[in-house]
Amino acid sequence: MQKNRIESTLLRRINERRLLELIQQQGPSSRAALTRISGLTAPTVSKAVDSLLKVGFVEEIDPREQALGRPGRLVRMAAESAAVLGAVIDAQVCCVVAAGLDGTVTEPQTRRFATPRTYAALLDALEKTCQELLGGSTGRVHGIGVSVPGLVNERLQEIVFCPNLHLLDKQNPARDLEQRLGMQCLLLQETDALCLSERMYGDARGGNDFAMLDVTTGLGLGVMSGGQLLAGHSGMAGEVGHITVDPDGIRCGCGNRGCLETLATDAALIRMVSEKVGRPLACDDVASLLNERAGDFQHEVRTVTEYTAIAIAAVINIFNPTTLFVHGTLLVGSAERFARVVERVKQRTLTASLADCRIVAARSSKRQAAVAGIMDHLTNAWAPSIR
Ligand SMILES: [Zn+2]
Repeated sequence: MQKNRIESTLLRRINERRLLELIQQQGPSSRAALTRISGLTAPTVSKAVDSLLKVGFVEEIDPREQALGRPGRLVRMAAESAAVLGAVIDAQVCCVVAAGLDGTVTEPQTRRFATPRTYAALLDALEKTCQELLGGSTGRVHGIGVSVPGLVNERLQEIVFCPNLHLLDKQNPARDLEQRLGMQCLLLQETDALCLSERMYGDARGGNDFAMLDVTTGLGLGVMSGGQLLAGHSGMAGEVGHITVDPDGIRCGCGNRGCLETLATDAALIRMVSEKVGRPLACDDVASLLNERAGDFQHEVRTVTEYTAIAIAAVINIFNPTTLFVHGTLLVGSAERFARVVERVKQRTLTASLADCRIVAARSSKRQAAVAGIMDHLTNAWAPSIR
């Protein structure tokens, strides 16, 4: 008897999850449209929508234009009546964004602050910023996704090592923030979160086999394989950035020398251009210099282009993704410079693997990714996915 009840609850939730994903993909939809697309019966759809309304995942709105007859109300992800927060911890600047469950991130709902020097100060700043955004939120807040760089050990539930922000070593800011705020906070490795974001809101919608290479500060890799994020034994797989490519190269944040991430990232290009002009520069400064005085930095751009192509080729050769998204600013953000990177990839990749793969600039931001991470978690916690 009890077993039957558990089974029917699970079945009900699986249907609800299916509808939730449909509403996420299709945008505002009528119950009739959801019935048609899902193939479920009208009473099942109606019951499932009522349940999703009750838990606050979706909301109903009136259709914009009155069609002939009596148009049904539309169901959409709860954009106004509920929210999630996304917090991004990064080496230079952190940010927190409040978003509706439709995942739309906006500047007015984003707060940024320079990354504090100590872990205690970081937690204080995160708590204060989250409180400020929570205070301005009218609906129910379902949780907070906390995106972090470095190696996240899923079994230990901590950041075991963070080469570019050592104050995070052996910490779990999501757990600590959860204690302070009394609200569900989820620890997310930033490149994995970018994968989820590209699948939920970007060009990989519904995709099950693609990879994401982040070439901003560190060089991170996330791989979606068969619909699952590649984790390895403890969730630490994909550290392509710490492959040695120059045995006598400069010291990396991990302690080793000549790691790929010291040569194939925005941070690498910023360092090289700063050395050339003789003063420390920010990413925006370097972007301006590359636009205004491109001829002066040809060697630096060529070096980072070459190593970025090596990184991309390695990922394509090893993982055979349908699409490789590259997340970056200086080379990836310029159509002309990115085209040159892709041109170099052709020299470095096995022809058959490359023919199978698109290489595109990622559209997702890390704040969008933090939101996608918590949304993915809420959906999975509701019911398992049946693919
Ligand atoms: Zn390293």
